[in-house]
Amino acid sequence: MSLHLYNTLTNKKELFKPIQEDYVRIYSCGQTIYDDVHVGNARTYSAWDILNRYLKWKGYDVFHIMNITDVGHLTDDADQGEDKVEKAAKKEKLEPMELVTRQILLFYKEIEKLNIDFADIYPRATGHMVEMIEAVKKILKHGYAYEKNGTIYFNVMKFEKDYGYPVLGGRKLEDLLAGEGGRVSEDELKEKNSHYDFALWIKADKGHMMKWPSPWGEGYPGWHLECSVMSTKYLGKVFDIHTGGIDHIFPHHPNERAQNITMNKTDEEPIKYWLHSDFITVNGEKMSKSKGNFYTIRELLEEYEPEAIRTLFASTHYRSQSDFSISSLEEAEKKLERLRNTIRKAKESKGGDKDNLLRAIENVKNEFEDAMDDDLNTPLALSKLIQFTGKINNNLDSKPNILDEAVITLEELAGILGIDLSEKREKSQDAAPYIDFILEIREKLRKEKLYSIADEIRDELQKKGLAIEDTEEGARWYIKGKT
Ligand code: AMP
Ligand code: ZN
Repeated sequence: MSLHLYNTLTNKKELFKPIQEDYVRIYSCGQTIYDDVHVGNARTYSAWDILNRYLKWKGYDVFHIMNITDVGHLTDDADQGEDKVEKAAKKEKLEPMELVTRQILLFYKEIEKLNIDFADIYPRATGHMVEMIEAVKKILKHGYAYEKNGTIYFNVMKFEKDYGYPVLGGRKLEDLLAGEGGRVSEDELKEKNSHYDFALWIKADKGHMMKWPSPWGEGYPGWHLECSVMSTKYLGKVFDIHTGGIDHIFPHHPNERAQNITMNKTDEEPIKYWLHSDFITVNGEKMSKSKGNFYTIRELLEEYEPEAIRTLFASTHYRSQSDFSISSLEEAEKKLERLRNTIRKAKESKGGDKDNLLRAIENVKNEFEDAMDDDLNTPLALSKLIQFTGKINNNLDSKPNILDEAVITLEELAGILGIDLSEKREKSQDAAPYIDFILEIREKLRKEKLYSIADEIRDELQKKGLAIEDTEEGARWYIKGKT
């Protein structure tokens, strides 16, 4: 099979064919940078990391852009409310760009800890004001925008008539109009011609901090504009893949597509594949910064390993919703442990003269690839790796070079899912002798059947951030979250 991806634009799985052979250009909607990365954001970024890694594994060069929204994303997606960055900065009594700088540095750190490969460029909206103003001028000149009181709106009805405005995901604009038309307020219609018109450039009210001079007075860009401008600037007028969470299926992505088409005047479909990842929920509700029902990656990494978080993400298909709980993370830890234990046993085994594993190695590669070719079916791919651990465990008497190959295969394929199985965690040199000593005493207590004291010691050490594994040769430990 060859790689098939589910394209939200056409609502079906399609064979993936890049515009240029061997070279794939990807744009991902990234963080609105006013708070910490939460598990939902990270799951979405992990999905695109797996896409990147898999494409590279298949031999493509990948050029990946992920934007950082540091202005223009309002508290209400329909151009209403306060700027999210400005609001958060005021609350913390910081300059908006001071908050942005702090959060960007944290974002990079957490992305790295999670073993998510960095994008090639992280362009910021505030760094592209000139290009955004030029884009608004072009859309106005091409007849798809109008001005009302210093704000420039995109004319969705005209665009729909000329090009069609597929609401990605199979809904049509008229369905939305029929369903939600009643909600349009008189005040709103005084401002714009239709409920679905959206702002390209917004006039700054008195007191608004983040604003720039423009031909239409002082203002700031509408949220959707930055992605059209930055994707065109770095990837060209026509490119391969655009990704984002399902919250972008409407209105962000259809609006972005409409802007790309009208500013660049391309007859060709500008973006070939639109991929959307489903939400992480908490008790069935979307995990979101604005609802406050989130676990940040920073707090999870204090207690859990990045590899466990990546194993959890890979355990659900990117297009399925997944409810986050600590118990689901602990389940993922068990899978990770199984992968690691197998590698350890294979490395420790002296081997024998059997070569049965060779077939299993061949099979797991094919099965993994088949699963991933089917719209990146990571849960199936991961289950194939878990099955493969059973094969390795049953064949520890294989020839040493075959055991080596099995380990390399397992590490390589898990690596595509973002799960790093290499032994790079180091014990803290300062604490190591003391921890070893405490664990030796615990071992003695266990031998004396003084289990409750031994368990208390283990629990206390775990609370302090150690992971402890009891093995036949005694306890092993490492510091959670340290890579
Ligand atoms: P935001 O910072 O809200 O603009 O979101 C950054 C990225 O994370 C976007 O691609 C969103 O679609 C995605 N995202 C936000 N919340 C969740 C969630 N609960 N589950 C999965 N992805 C999410
Ligand atoms: Zn975007």
